[in-house]
Amino acid sequence: MAVIDARTAASLSDGPSVVLVDIRSQSAWLDGVPKNAKLWSSSDLLNQAKQLKQQGKKVCIVCYLGQTSAVLVEQLEEKWGDGFYSVQGGFKTWEAMGLPVEVPVKVPAVDRYERQVKLPNFGLEAQNKLQNSHVLVVGAGGLGAPALLYLAGAGLGRISLIDDDTVAIHNLHRQILYQQEDVGQPKADVAKRRLIALNDNVSIQALNERLTVENVESLVENVDLVVDGSDNVSSRYVINEACLKFNKPWLFTAVSGFDIQLTLFSGEKNRPCYRCLFPGVDDSELDNCSEAGVLGPVPGLAGMLQAIETIKYLTGLGDDLKLKMLSYDVLHHHFKMLKYPSKIRSGCIH
Ligand SMILES: [Zn+2]
Repeated sequence: MAVIDARTAASLSDGPSVVLVDIRSQSAWLDGVPKNAKLWSSSDLLNQAKQLKQQGKKVCIVCYLGQTSAVLVEQLEEKWGDGFYSVQGGFKTWEAMGLPVEVPVKVPAVDRYERQVKLPNFGLEAQNKLQNSHVLVVGAGGLGAPALLYLAGAGLGRISLIDDDTVAIHNLHRQILYQQEDVGQPKADVAKRRLIALNDNVSIQALNERLTVENVESLVENVDLVVDGSDNVSSRYVINEACLKFNKPWLFTAVSGFDIQLTLFSGEKNRPCYRCLFPGVDDSELDNCSEAGVLGPVPGLAGMLQAIETIKYLTGLGDDLKLKMLSYDVLHHHFKMLKYPSKIRSGCIH
């Protein structure tokens, strides 16, 4: 059974070939963890072991005193061979040696997120990533309303939202943030109130304005991802241009009748942007809800897909939607994934 001394593990954990894993309990993590450590349960680690082995990583495991980690290393060696090390003396020794420790962002109400933290590969580590993330949601309507509710519920640390509209009675069949008593009030204000009522650990910045070329840059500059909940092409071009400028990813979502489309533009200058795919669309070519009609749950589902993809992107869970257009035909149950080329369109704005 392979053992590694804590000081060596600490110095190796800065490098790309070593993964340091703290397998202690979530409550122990809240008081401090080894710097660079992944916060995984033993079963998370057992699930990840095959992949780590394939990637040629060495895995150093920290427990309380070095006993549980030793048992786990024996188990891992039996199944996957060498490359797994028990950190001698566990976290107690790590701390006593004065090796670097960081305190993860406190999750104020661990109970609130218990059911998602429990998920394989999610854990407190993903929860902390959400807590440290900042997302801009453009539009708090049919898409934005469900997306915002799920993002706030999931514990996203900071959410900025922008919408210059007021709540109308015909919004209520799909914009589930709002109630009858809100009719006539600015959506941004009501949305902020409802989201804080749902989860006051989330910091909400709500702007009762239209997204324009003047205000977009200051909004996009510091976020980790932009969620497009707008219903028009001109806003998407505004988002696209700002995201390209600051290399920010954005989640494009369109609903037309009973069809949903979703993709993630990376914001990288050498990757296709919205204009590469849709160079000359204008709003007159799009269905909008007021003219074409819409069944409430269709944008609702699209908004939920946005929330799912946002959480996945921010936590690194599963596959992202870069260079892929997810399309769902609600009427005929066709879920399709279309890949598009990674080349930028010549003559585009990059
Ligand atoms: Zn482009």
